[in-house]
Amino acid sequence: MHPFRTACRDGLARIRAEGRYRNFQPLRKSASRFPVFTIGQGETKRDVTVWSSNDYLAMGVHPVVIDAAVKAAQEMGAGAGGTRNIAGTSDLHEALEHELASLHGKPAALLFTSGYVANEATLSTILRSYPNWHVFSDKKNHASMIAGVKGAPATVHIWKHNDLADLERLLAAAPADAPKMVVFESVYSMDADISDIAGICDIAEKYGALTYLDEVHAVGMYGAEGGGVSQRDHVAHRVDIIEGTLAKGFGCHGGYIAADSEIVDYIRSAASGFIFTTSLPPTTIAAALASVRHVRQDNARRAAIFERAETLKAKLRSAGLPVIPSVSHIVPVHVGDAVRVKEVSRELMDRFAIYATPINYPTVPVGSERLRLTPTPLHTDAMMDALVDALLAVLSETKRVAA
Ligand SMILES: *Cc1c(COP(=O)(O)O)cnc(C)c1O
Repeated sequence: MHPFRTACRDGLARIRAEGRYRNFQPLRKSASRFPVFTIGQGETKRDVTVWSSNDYLAMGVHPVVIDAAVKAAQEMGAGAGGTRNIAGTSDLHEALEHELASLHGKPAALLFTSGYVANEATLSTILRSYPNWHVFSDKKNHASMIAGVKGAPATVHIWKHNDLADLERLLAAAPADAPKMVVFESVYSMDADISDIAGICDIAEKYGALTYLDEVHAVGMYGAEGGGVSQRDHVAHRVDIIEGTLAKGFGCHGGYIAADSEIVDYIRSAASGFIFTTSLPPTTIAAALASVRHVRQDNARRAAIFERAETLKAKLRSAGLPVIPSVSHIVPVHVGDAVRVKEVSRELMDRFAIYATPINYPTVPVGSERLRLTPTPLHTDAMMDALVDALLAVLSETKRVAA
């Protein structure tokens, strides 16, 4: 047997033993009934209420967005047919980049295959641009940022999550003349907390560091037009590079950066992960453009997601359920045990047709395992009441079993 096959077997056994093995739950979205999905087919088909979608604003099922995708498919076909440099740039790609630059108040923007690729490609390209970079990365940064930083010829400093004193301590200790970059997020989706962008920019400025901000969980929802927390806090102009996704709040697919023209032009010209891949298809681009344009002026939708999140938090709290305090639109419910959180999730699905993903170590620390709930403007009070009842039943029972 080839040693790689042995490695696969051992690796899988280890993943299973550690309780990290992943089973996917096939769920079919219903554009007309979101957030109700279906599972199974024919006789066994049934409805499931999904509480863990990252389509935060339900824009993925908005008629304006669906119509744009359908029209683009009919007029332009299914695939882009080439990289951006080889027949794969349409007027829609350029219009979307202009729209995203304008959303963040930056001169330019650049599209990528996904938010993951945007982070990985941009960060690794910056850190390979010349030697001796020192990069300062928040402890809780997403895997895609870590992928961009890791392996680059740079000195990496990890600062304690959202701890500005720790960031400053590390910056002060680094060589004064070394090029520096501070890499962080606005909304941290697993902890549901939000960084102090202005405070981080103050420190970065003091030490002459570039700032790179992932607004993936904020774009669409925060700020007057959905430009993210940097727009809400009026600090977007102080952040050098803002990264976002079209796949969460905007409900479509793709990632991007927004920055000054020279930075964007350099990344466009040097990033392998941008250059050597087929550009996003016209359906996705047209849908995303319609979504961003719509979301920018749809303040009611932005208000609705926060109203829904606050209502859910209040309902969970008044039922005595362990809601983890959250200043964002994400509602985490504490379970606190790796085996139990999976059981709770499975029970919710099997008995109550409710889908809520368990979040385990290493995404969150051991002992803080949780369900991560993401209410959208389309989650009703009745859905919330059903969720509360189901959680009360399941959490009290698993506690009894565990005790
Ligand atoms: C989801 C996520 C990404 C990746 O975005 P995709 O468009 O899904 O690839 C990047 N950063 C953070 C913080 C994320 O949660």
